[in-house]
Amino acid sequence: MIGAIASAAVVSAGALVWGALERNSPLFGRVQRRLDGDENLVALTFDDGPNPDATPAILDALGAEGVAATFFILGRHADRWPALVERAAREGHAIGNHGYHHRKLLWRSPRYVREDISLGTAAIARAGAPRPTIFRAPHGQRNPWVTPIAHSEGQRTIGWSLGVWDTALPGADVIANRVVRGTRRGSIVLLHDGDGYDPAGDRMQTAQALPTIIRRLRDRGFSFAALQPS
Ligand SMILES: [Zn+2]
Repeated sequence: MIGAIASAAVVSAGALVWGALERNSPLFGRVQRRLDGDENLVALTFDDGPNPDATPAILDALGAEGVAATFFILGRHADRWPALVERAAREGHAIGNHGYHHRKLLWRSPRYVREDISLGTAAIARAGAPRPTIFRAPHGQRNPWVTPIAHSEGQRTIGWSLGVWDTALPGADVIANRVVRGTRRGSIVLLHDGDGYDPAGDRMQTAQALPTIIRRLRDRGFSFAALQPS
């Protein structure tokens, strides 16, 4: 009996950890990880910006190709470079909330989570962009109250289906190859125009990879879509 209880405790603790660490886990509420529909669409998403070097280069590349993307803005970077947030919104890209401090939310209290989400929302609004209706947790890490709290703030939680580790700076060619090889119909691709810890972190490889990514995905028949508002 005690053994059974102990096993049950181990299983539920394991489920808790899995639910938190598996970014697309349904255990802690629904996360959108793909685009709906049958079209050959892909969503390019950029986290942790704005960044003074990479974000303008990425916006230039997207604009030159007429591609709409999604930026999950980090509030404390938005407060440093608000004009870049406003520019991304003005140029037709979707603006999502990535919270304010970029601390992992796994072991944070409901009060902390709500504050981080609402501070991120406020920073985006201060920058002059529309109030965000989508949210992505730092590192995709959640606990049982992250998605319900985001929902109560009017924000749907977004995950991703393809990450390519562009933050490890493997080179622009490697980043482009990983995206092109990994993209499927409805993919949500995780890229980074900023560094969640260093406000001026180097993300130029991602910017340099972007024109190649766009051209090669178009050659394969893909079109690009920003995430839809909630
Ligand atoms: Zn992040």
